[in-house]
Amino acid sequence: MVLSEFSLIQRYFSQGTAQRADVRLGVGDDAALLLVPDGCELVMSLDTLVSGIHFPDDAAPADIAHKTLAVNLSDMAAMGAEPAWMMLALTLPEVNEAWLEQFSQGMRQLANEYGVTLVGGDTTRGPLTISVQISGLVPAGQALQRRGAQPGDRIYVTGQLGDAAVGLQLAQGRCQLDIDDVQRDYFLRRLHRPRPQVAAGVALRGLASAAIDISDGLIADLGHVLEMSGVGASLDVDQLPVAAVVRKTPEWWRLPLTAGDDYELCFTVTPGFAAQAEQRLRQLACPCVCIGTIDTGLGLRLTCQGREIDTQQLQGYRHFG
Ligand code: ADP
Ligand code: MG
Repeated sequence: MVLSEFSLIQRYFSQGTAQRADVRLGVGDDAALLLVPDGCELVMSLDTLVSGIHFPDDAAPADIAHKTLAVNLSDMAAMGAEPAWMMLALTLPEVNEAWLEQFSQGMRQLANEYGVTLVGGDTTRGPLTISVQISGLVPAGQALQRRGAQPGDRIYVTGQLGDAAVGLQLAQGRCQLDIDDVQRDYFLRRLHRPRPQVAAGVALRGLASAAIDISDGLIADLGHVLEMSGVGASLDVDQLPVAAVVRKTPEWWRLPLTAGDDYELCFTVTPGFAAQAEQRLRQLACPCVCIGTIDTGLGLRLTCQGREIDTQQLQGYRHFG
């Protein structure tokens, strides 16, 4: 028997995400009612993933669910916001209960881990497309933004860059790196199951002068910060955090500079706050490394072992400037 839209929503999406006292009315009415605490700003973001474009048609349903929510959580991280509520717009070519079971399970798991409640959505028939709209909270005036980087600020990134790109090469059977099964699992997880740096974003409130999450590649995303802040930057490419197996390859720096999908944070901090920012992230066991400085001359300068790298030849540069 084919489920009606109502029973589909009831069965898969009406419960099981985080319980929050600020949800006055969730799934099931014409709209959700949510309580925004006094002194907080509501932070909202939306991202859509389309089958065949953002993920292959045969991708694992739980991976699709994880990734769609994760990219939204990553936007909250970049704003220094605590994610609270999500809405899910699901366009399905058919009602496939096994698919829905795995998809909703993947979504519940990540939502629970990050304390997010699914409070509503929309379900329609059509080519497989998933939109998540996420809302979070930040004390008024404390959100991190792309603008705000000042000359002299240090530039940091969290985690390791280029991992998701290696995962994609593996998934597509075109990876030339010499890696074992454990590493293979690691890189595929980095592609399919990114862990957005929400706690790091919250910890950087009041310290970072600007922040962005790295979804399109470091050069492209740092480029947005530079543009919005009206500054330039110099990067010491040797400092880029990259997997050892990648660093052994010729022009290893291409991957961490241009590859997207890592969902790490890039942030700037005035030198006087740098030690404190590093310490807060260390307490969270979130790796971070200083990769350069903001300067007054517009544009981006890259040096590798004292030699300048021509940014023009790097893919991803077109996003910048
Ligand atoms: P309406 O016709 O008023 O838009 P719907 O039938 O679209 O109502 O939705 C009924 C309820 O189910 C609403 O509360 C809506 O937010 C929720 N809902 C619909 N689809 C989803 C979904 N995929 N995930 C979570 N909640 C959903
Ligand atoms: Mg509706």
